[in-house]
Amino acid sequence: MHRIARSAIRLLSLVSLCCLPFTALRAEEIVLRTSILFDGVGTVLFDKDIHVVDGRITRIEEWGERYDYDLRGMTVTPGWIDAHAHVAARQDRDGAHVLPNTLGNESPEEAVLAVAANAYATLLAGFTTIQSPGDLLDVPVARMTAAGFFPGPRILTSQELLFPDTAASETAILDFLRRMRRQGADFVKIFADGPGGEFPAEKLSFACREAAALGMRTIVHAVSQAAVEKVVAARCGSVEHGYGIEDDAVFPKMAEAGIYFSPSLDIPVHYARRERELPAAADYGPGRITEMPQSYRDYVEVFRQALSSGVDIVFASDAVAGVHGHNADEFVWRVVDGGQAPLDAVRDATSVAARALGLADEIGRIAPGYHADIVAVEGDLRRDILAVKRVRFVMKAGAVHLYRPAVE
Ligand SMILES: [Zn+2]
Repeated sequence: MHRIARSAIRLLSLVSLCCLPFTALRAEEIVLRTSILFDGVGTVLFDKDIHVVDGRITRIEEWGERYDYDLRGMTVTPGWIDAHAHVAARQDRDGAHVLPNTLGNESPEEAVLAVAANAYATLLAGFTTIQSPGDLLDVPVARMTAAGFFPGPRILTSQELLFPDTAASETAILDFLRRMRRQGADFVKIFADGPGGEFPAEKLSFACREAAALGMRTIVHAVSQAAVEKVVAARCGSVEHGYGIEDDAVFPKMAEAGIYFSPSLDIPVHYARRERELPAAADYGPGRITEMPQSYRDYVEVFRQALSSGVDIVFASDAVAGVHGHNADEFVWRVVDGGQAPLDAVRDATSVAARALGLADEIGRIAPGYHADIVAVEGDLRRDILAVKRVRFVMKAGAVHLYRPAVE
């Protein structure tokens, strides 16, 4: 598997030099006419035109004479960022769920195409950037997408995963980190607890410190209180999940250390649906929390504690097979049961997520100089969070991938 992915990477780096991407950007100006515009940080602007040249936002101005896309009647926001989406998580030809960095009953070519299809579904759902923790199959899809060969979000990937059993010695940890850097991993995903046991505290500190020294961010799967405390002590980049947190005093410590909290409320809902313990999404209205699985209610309680603590709660769906293209469900649970204000949830999926990914100066805001990653949803998102399920416009780096104007 690794060998296949590496030779694919070598091949792709040749391909991307030789051919023109299909989304060659227009040099001329593209004007988006908007009525409600959220900048991704905290400001809502009304009746503005967004000007885009060469894939970047150049100006935001009063309505002018001409426009190319009519986004009036919609809420316009920066393209959404999902900081935890397993874009390579898929089912094989027999419907079996395939584990990271393995193949199921499928050829390597089928597997890569399945990942590309997941990525495209994610883009059409409004997500212009995702962080995948992680699979080597992310790499060819990330590169082909970046080169413009087919549509998809920007993909940052850890490629492989650092489990406690790899952490037998500091040498083994260093070998792993150096190999990830050589392979071009965008960050390092570590399991403090979960499959493979517990990561010893001093080894976790070593791993996060050495990763930082190599210029790599860390995100850490940590469910239990003890695991989360270890992440805080080790000053790693983020706590993924954390639904076993029992003492909310940990959140101010995370905020102080600049550690992001990355909960995924949607995932227990998804699994309950998959096991047919819950009706399908279409039958399930918001607010029926008592019918939700216990793990979801635990997640909601932890989320509510985090919300009042001041820690940065990055948007993270933990999308697995079956969730790609439905990543926005996470917004709904955050608002409906978690009690978050809709635009705060969007801020966590734009400027806050961009900062968590180390891309604060590039994406996550509608402002001059930023990549023209822009999403529009039907209606007023400030009052109706379900608008996130009605995406009508998706632009990534100035290329329009979806435009469904409102029907009169
Ligand atoms: Zn995950």
